[in-house]
Amino acid sequence: MSDWNDRLGNPLQPSDYIDAKSGLVVCGTCGEPKQHVIELAGVKTIVPCACRCTREQDAARREEVERQRAEYERSRRRTECFGDDLKKAGYTFAADDRRNAQVSDAAWGYTKDFAQQRKDGKGLLFLGTVGTGKTFYACCIANAVIDAGYSAIVTNFAQIASDLQGAFDKRSVHNRLLRADLIVLDDLAAERDTSFMQEVVFQVVEELSGAGKPMILTSNLSPQEFLHPAELSRSRVFSRVAEVCTIISVTGADRRMERRKAEQKDDRQRLIDAASS
Ligand SMILES: [Zn+2]
Repeated sequence: MSDWNDRLGNPLQPSDYIDAKSGLVVCGTCGEPKQHVIELAGVKTIVPCACRCTREQDAARREEVERQRAEYERSRRRTECFGDDLKKAGYTFAADDRRNAQVSDAAWGYTKDFAQQRKDGKGLLFLGTVGTGKTFYACCIANAVIDAGYSAIVTNFAQIASDLQGAFDKRSVHNRLLRADLIVLDDLAAERDTSFMQEVVFQVVEELSGAGKPMILTSNLSPQEFLHPAELSRSRVFSRVAEVCTIISVTGADRRMERRKAEQKDDRQRLIDAASS
């Protein structure tokens, strides 16, 4: 019998004891029987059964398997979202210095409300000059929705155009975007001003907004330039974006330039140190 208990994952322990009344083995830890009696073709047989300890162990094992599965799925989705761009994959709310607290709050608020925003097909448009952190906030949101179990894609129109040109099946490029729960389109209006490029931008924005897919866009344009574009070709795209995206204005100093200035100072110091050593 102990052999059977071993095979069923509930081996007998030195602390187990035999219940005087039933004659069956009882778990010394939880006090529940580790055996019970069944009747097969009129013959009574003692067979092992799970006590509370075994049930709890099984539940913990299942939970661990589920946790690992979810972790694997998140990591797969992060790779799908960012490819080998590890820098962007590291843009998270945990890494946010909150120097622009209003923008941080808006981005975080959108993330917390993502289930509803997604249902409504609503997104965000970050507008602001170079280096103010628009891409950072957009990627923070993508990372956070992936953590919450959704899928996201971070890309830009130049990349989509190049994918379309290289794809045998052009539909597959659109379908990849349509499959995602959130699509980040970086650097709107930075693409080349060719009719092909403008058509790609128009098609993507039309298709995603038509399908009710939430988009996060970033652009170096000022709110004025966005709301009153000089080119007619862009105004139809921009008015579509304005319909489905809340505009967040990101102001502040050029962080990349600030960082580079600090690095330049370090670099110069290193040269001076090298000269005097
Ligand atoms: Zn037990």
